[in-house]
Amino acid sequence: MKRRDLLKGSLAAGALALMPRVQAQGAPQNQPGLGRRYRNLIVYVYDGFGWEDYAIAQAYARRRLGRTLALERLLARYPNGLINTYSLTSYVTESSAAGNALSTGVKTVNGGVAVHADGSPLRPFFAAAKEAGKAVGLVTTTTITHATPASFAVSNPDRNAEAQIAEQYLAFGAEVYLGGGDRFFNPERRQDRKDLYAAFAQAGYGVVRTPEELARSNASKLLGVFSEGHVPYEIDRRFQGVRVPSLKEMVQAALPRLAAHRNGFVLQVEAGRIDHANHLNDAAATLWDTLAADEALEALTAFVDRHPDTLLILVSDHACGTGALYGTGRSYLESSLGIDLLERERASFEFMGRALGGSPDAAQVKETFRALKGVALTDEEAERVVRAVRERVFWPEGVRFGIQPANTMAWAMAQRDARRPDRPNIGWNSGQHTATPVILLLYGQGLRFLQLGLLDNTHVFRLMGEALGIRYQNPVMSEEEALEILKARPVGMRHPEDVWA
Ligand SMILES: [Zn+2]
Repeated sequence: MKRRDLLKGSLAAGALALMPRVQAQGAPQNQPGLGRRYRNLIVYVYDGFGWEDYAIAQAYARRRLGRTLALERLLARYPNGLINTYSLTSYVTESSAAGNALSTGVKTVNGGVAVHADGSPLRPFFAAAKEAGKAVGLVTTTTITHATPASFAVSNPDRNAEAQIAEQYLAFGAEVYLGGGDRFFNPERRQDRKDLYAAFAQAGYGVVRTPEELARSNASKLLGVFSEGHVPYEIDRRFQGVRVPSLKEMVQAALPRLAAHRNGFVLQVEAGRIDHANHLNDAAATLWDTLAADEALEALTAFVDRHPDTLLILVSDHACGTGALYGTGRSYLESSLGIDLLERERASFEFMGRALGGSPDAAQVKETFRALKGVALTDEEAERVVRAVRERVFWPEGVRFGIQPANTMAWAMAQRDARRPDRPNIGWNSGQHTATPVILLLYGQGLRFLQLGLLDNTHVFRLMGEALGIRYQNPVMSEEEALEILKARPVGMRHPEDVWA
């Protein structure tokens, strides 16, 4: 008998699942329940979203937009708490292990979609919901085949096998798929030349590729793929006229189609590029994707208000970066001014990278930063960016924490004088994920007195199961067993987040 089967047996007997050592040593386990059922479930994932991102967006919304975030209002009034995010083998998770914890209720290693380290598949929650008769929707600003949406529906040992995941989606048969990732559907871009658009159309999907087609379509089942890779950042959609639907527009296309189903639905919405902007230390891109997420959140809460048999679970999978607003000036009096300076930013580093091309000179770099980031670079800073773009040379020297040339572009914009802000006073320490606990919030009827507190991310799976009355247990793997399997692998996992498009 395999060790995992033994563990499964002990679970059935009511023992605690074997979790990473911190829990085995007696960390408290908070297990609040909803105490009621719902017909529909919406899981809204803010990918790579931490409290520092929240603080910056909250301050910007109040100060520059003259309003409070929908998220701020919900935090003030509805049950919310924190989730620990560590994966089976690392205190720092990536998005597939985090997605797996939410969707399967068990900890896994980083890198696979709804599988354990030995490749044995886990049953994702939306697969179980579909079997129970629920309609299914996946909506994201990343490639639709990316780890967070995929981990809710299908299993694959490699989160980067997105061409294959696209085929798995066809077989899975969700009602709505909206996001990016043309290269995984288009016969001219797929290595095997398969035409997945034609295959989806044959299976009864309306296939749409532009915001106009999305608005016009009256198909009940929908595949919308709006970009070659990830859907461009909100800051570029909003200020540079990049033609893709907003997350809110995608949500508004998904909801009525799913709500038309008699047995209810499950929907995952992902604000997926907050994470990517954080990987690139691009504060304004993070801000605008967070603000766009907030607009989509308004649409979702309005739907819940009209359909009170719907539960909305808002959750981050981990933090990333993390760019923080730092105190500036005497008595920190200049700190808020640093927030105002974000208003001058009108494009992402990704957009600027494309505008600069492969071999810009210092004058082009200075002009691009002036026009698109509102920042006057010094000659030296501009020269450093040139070398980062042309030769991937890192700056500051000896510091290699992220993806070039974005991280040098970010460093070029860093605050130099803490007394007089002339650039947004947002600082970064890395372009990687972190271990901080992140947000969990519930919105729906009958939850007023629920206390969440500090939970494990796997508890989201139990909340979803309780909400819809769908309960099952996936097999648990021990950290030791997973480490043995990982040691035997010839090569390590690829860098999990390919975000410099
Ligand atoms: Zn990430």
